[in-house]
Amino acid sequence: MFIIHGAYHFWPKRVAFRDDYCLTCESPRRSIAIRTFDVGHIWIPILPVGYWKHWKCTACGSDPHVNPKARRSFIWAGLLCLIAISVILWEAPFDPDLGSTGWILRVAAPAATIWLLTYLLRSPKEPSLRERLAAIPPASDAVCPFCSTPLICGSGPRWSCPACSAVRY
Ligand SMILES: [Zn+2]
Ligand SMILES: [Zn+2]
Repeated sequence: MFIIHGAYHFWPKRVAFRDDYCLTCESPRRSIAIRTFDVGHIWIPILPVGYWKHWKCTACGSDPHVNPKARRSFIWAGLLCLIAISVILWEAPFDPDLGSTGWILRVAAPAATIWLLTYLLRSPKEPSLRERLAAIPPASDAVCPFCSTPLICGSGPRWSCPACSAVRY
């Protein structure tokens, strides 16, 4: 099995743009797609993996659809772990060797559980990315943002630039 330690991105070219919702900025943003020739590297062997398109937000530079916050399901999993730890700590016969540490753990685990539970119940469930994207009208540019050439409606469903072949999404 190959473990790819990273990827080199060669020959970047801006190939598309769209009006998007960026999860890092938490607001509607313009994002652009950059196509690069990617080469994975393990240590010395180099693995060409071809052309790949990467979307990035023009304001913060990160992938607009990667949520920087921990997902709620991870927090729920953490909560279940804490409940399990609390139960184990209280079920186990008290070990006098542990002394005050044992008592601190016995109190800290349920306290952390309650804190996490109130956090989960208080923080409103965020609208999904799909809902947010639905609220954003598609880009309506008539001119290519990369080279200022008027866009044309080709044979496909998308408008594109005749000069640099960037595509409007
Ligand atoms: Zn952003
Ligand atoms: Zn162009």
